[in-house]
Amino acid sequence: MPVSHSRSIELPPDEYLSKEEVLKLWGIVQDRIDTLMANGRDAVSNLTEDRDQEADAIDVASSESEREFVLRLADRERLMLRKLKKAQERMEEGEYGMCESCGEPITLKRLMVRPVATQCIDCKTQAEQLERRSRTF
Ligand SMILES: [Zn+2]
Repeated sequence: MPVSHSRSIELPPDEYLSKEEVLKLWGIVQDRIDTLMANGRDAVSNLTEDRDQEADAIDVASSESEREFVLRLADRERLMLRKLKKAQERMEEGEYGMCESCGEPITLKRLMVRPVATQCIDCKTQAEQLERRSRTF
């Protein structure tokens, strides 16, 4: 009768995440959320400064496109923020680290680089190839 701790040692490296690994990834995700929030605040305060100087600005068009850029960036950051929060939700529900396409575990190595990944590298590659193919026709 094997004891539980010896069984976890026998797990292949690509198996589902341990509680410690999930906690570690939670920290990485939280760091990214904090960074995004801080960047978002910076972008908003820059935007406000721009508006104050607008009366003096000769090139209004360029200041307009700059603001658009900041807003677009904010959009992307909002999207990433949602993905990060979703990742934490999946961690709480114990569904994290599982490929949503084939149900196989996503490797820790991949999750460390891309903690918002919802597909294993095989499914992701396949999806990208399909996408590329459908774009060609
Ligand atoms: Zn998969």
